[in-house]
Amino acid sequence: MKEITVISGKGGTGKTSFTGSFAALSANAVFTDCDVDAANLSLIMRPVLQETHEFKASRTAFIQEDECIRCGLCRKLCRFGAISDAFRIDPLSCEGCGVCYHACPAEAITFEETVSGQWFISNTPYGPLVHARLGIAEENSGKLVTLVRNRVKEIARDENRSFILTDGPPGIGCPVIASLAGASAALVVTEPTLSGVHDMERVLDVCRYFKVSALVCINRCDLDEENTRKIEKYCQNRSVPVVGKVPFDKVVTEAMVEGLPVVEYSDGTVSRKIKEIWAEILKNT
Ligand code: SF4
Ligand code: SF4
Repeated sequence: MKEITVISGKGGTGKTSFTGSFAALSANAVFTDCDVDAANLSLIMRPVLQETHEFKASRTAFIQEDECIRCGLCRKLCRFGAISDAFRIDPLSCEGCGVCYHACPAEAITFEETVSGQWFISNTPYGPLVHARLGIAEENSGKLVTLVRNRVKEIARDENRSFILTDGPPGIGCPVIASLAGASAALVVTEPTLSGVHDMERVLDVCRYFKVSALVCINRCDLDEENTRKIEKYCQNRSVPVVGKVPFDKVVTEAMVEGLPVVEYSDGTVSRKIKEIWAEILKNT
């Protein structure tokens, strides 16, 4: 079973448009959106929701007023300033360390798991999609990405699918590492802007560190041809294949607005280039 993770190093490079189109071009595949802070792959995959699950990854302390003897110990020990003079815990400030819970002499503090987000299984015209949504200001995105990837692998095994396609998060942090670990290859979607080049270099370093072979495609390549050449040179020097270049075209945005992968919305240059890139990915993985 092959597993391709599409990443970008920075947001806004068109990663999700590419992933949605690859999904439409793939056969016998399952899909996952690991950009759990801003999941939007489902917007262009026409999902029909099958399952919704809660994601619990943290705990929050709560003081039961009736039991509290107002000794002040919890307030003294809390390093996050989460407990008020009136012995109430601010759930947004509580980091869930559990110190107050263990220290309270009156056993007046409960320490419950809290719902940090949701994850979903949907059917799409192209195959099953596992996606998720992390709650506002919630942490643990890496844990949620791992959960989503494990679930999609189970589905792939159960249904004898030959391909997992993952829309990874932007950046180079914990959720990106969680999206990449163990993948067959990563496709880095970049663009010829200064930040695009810089962030591509950083994310290629992450791929190298985790021994995931990387491919690069350059989106909106005609916006700065000199930077496009720089990207190609950089990749050539590091033996990273550049599997395609796609020019800017507003048809990509139009397809998004229509809720369709661009290869289903148009048969113009962009769609042709994306099809060529997909063929190169299959050849290189
Ligand atoms: S440690 Fe327990 S008893 Fe003491 S103030 Fe805090 S909640 Fe109340
Ligand atoms: S669990 Fe930790 S962070 Fe939360 S209120 Fe208690 S001591 Fe403070």
